[in-house]
Amino acid sequence: MHEYSIARELVETLIDQVDEADLRRAEVVHVELGELRVLSKEALSSAYDITTQETVLEYSRIEFEDVELEVSCKECDFVGQVNHEEAEGLHFAIPVLSCPRCGGPVEVKKGNELAIRTLTIADDDED
Ligand SMILES: [Zn+2]
Repeated sequence: MHEYSIARELVETLIDQVDEADLRRAEVVHVELGELRVLSKEALSSAYDITTQETVLEYSRIEFEDVELEVSCKECDFVGQVNHEEAEGLHFAIPVLSCPRCGGPVEVKKGNELAIRTLTIADDDED
């Protein structure tokens, strides 16, 4: 499943870039998730739990911050959200990648995010 390779990548990035001592106390890993990614948060969460087993991140969990799609139009300079179409047979709406004002071609400004934002680190005053 796609979510597993993404979870593994996130975990590897964390282990590479964050001090091990901080990771050991990490409670929540906050991840920005762009709307265009169309990933299952449930699948990503369980993939994260499995991927972090027997690592320093074993007791942490992942949480998501949604980033809505935002585009800018090359024709009329519209900047903002796009319309959504309910996809038949699917449980989500697919964003329509054209300008809601003039139907022109758009450039994606936001919505492709998949990045670790912050870690919530446990307070270890009780130690
Ligand atoms: Zn436009």
